[in-house]
Amino acid sequence: MTPTTNPTQIERYDRAPIGLPDRAVTISHSTLIQAHCPRRYLLRRIEGLRPKRIRLAPTYGSLWHRVKEHVHRAWLQDRAPTEQEMIGAEWEAEQTLLGFVDKDQMTEEDADGLMLRLRGNLEAWLRMNRGGAPPESYRLVAYEIGLAMPIRTRSGRVYAPEVPVVRDGDVWRLARPGERSRAYVVRWPWYFVGRLDQLMAHRSSGVLWVSDDKTSASPGDMLTRLSNDPQVPGYLSLVRHASREGLLPWVPQGAEVKGFWHRITHSGKLSRPTVLKGRKKDAPSPGLSVARNRRIPSWWYRKALVEHGFDPGEDKYRDHLAYLRSHVDANLERIDWQSYGDDDLDRYDRELYAGAARLAQMHRDAVRASTVEDLDKTHPRVAVCQSSKFGCDYVGPCMNDGAEVRHDYEVRAAQTWAVDPLNPALPPGITPDTWRRP
Ligand code: SF4
Repeated sequence: MTPTTNPTQIERYDRAPIGLPDRAVTISHSTLIQAHCPRRYLLRRIEGLRPKRIRLAPTYGSLWHRVKEHVHRAWLQDRAPTEQEMIGAEWEAEQTLLGFVDKDQMTEEDADGLMLRLRGNLEAWLRMNRGGAPPESYRLVAYEIGLAMPIRTRSGRVYAPEVPVVRDGDVWRLARPGERSRAYVVRWPWYFVGRLDQLMAHRSSGVLWVSDDKTSASPGDMLTRLSNDPQVPGYLSLVRHASREGLLPWVPQGAEVKGFWHRITHSGKLSRPTVLKGRKKDAPSPGLSVARNRRIPSWWYRKALVEHGFDPGEDKYRDHLAYLRSHVDANLERIDWQSYGDDDLDRYDRELYAGAARLAQMHRDAVRASTVEDLDKTHPRVAVCQSSKFGCDYVGPCMNDGAEVRHDYEVRAAQTWAVDPLNPALPPGITPDTWRRP
């Protein structure tokens, strides 16, 4: 939650996103994904059910993200990270994993395996990116920044639909089914929020680009899947709004937003070359294996050749090095640039409004429902359940709801608003003359 002076508190935001007013209903790209299935939206966002889980060990992706933060801190000073900083980043990742091993939440072998992958891929990344130097034509303006923009109706007004809220201790939250009699209708503005990985500015033209780092065992395949990612124009629309409104302190107001690039780094295991054994005991090795069944970066292979006294110029090694360069090195990182125009972003904004209107209706319907049958009509299961694809956490209550199934869940609101001490009995902005039940 956001421990800031902003009375709007949003889960997973340590501080209020830039551009968020004091009181707003927020939705994010994840909210829209959850709403893909109305039943899932009901369980997750309206009822606030969360699976009870022990804290899971970090994934490769989250470790990579943390290591890259050290790189981004250096980029902000327009320099490559020092060797010492990278050693510190690796040490930090290792300590994090050891913490989980100490608590028996991860085996030592798993932690070692993760670190091995991380080290190998980090070495590859640094090698491919001039020692981790900042991009030549761009400067990093900011990283990990939360932004907010108003959702607008077709006529351009800020969308502020009627939604029911209830008081819950010292906060207000969106009402749940069965709370109609104690809910109040509010018309607070709706905002779209998102967190950017990196905001880059072209060094000479000043145009802005958003960059997103991802990791995958198969960067090429992931890039194909991301070729039509609606999240991208969403990010860019956020930046366009912030730039037009002069909310980005690092760039001139009105700086043009140009596009997006995905940078996908290999996350799988990299192998070391195999030194072949001589036929007889103590016979010298006949050389390095040239088998093509493992992912060995060409520079590891060349280094091993030199270390073991073999000639990298020999035909079979020259061919194998060429093969590794084109089939392994070339697939360790994939970068894709996509430029977007105002038309693309305007289209996203229209879709955002349509999505928000659907969500607002789902909140109203859920509170007005008198029976579970009503909820079946207003919040049906999705026609083609995508739970395996999206990893739906709600298969239990979706299939067979009841107290027993719900025992595995806790209830938590995704967003709350602080009670106004001057008007504690009513939601902020509502007076004794204007309050209304849904
Ligand atoms: S299991 Fe499928 S139908 Fe049920 S809530 Fe999840 S996505 Fe929707």
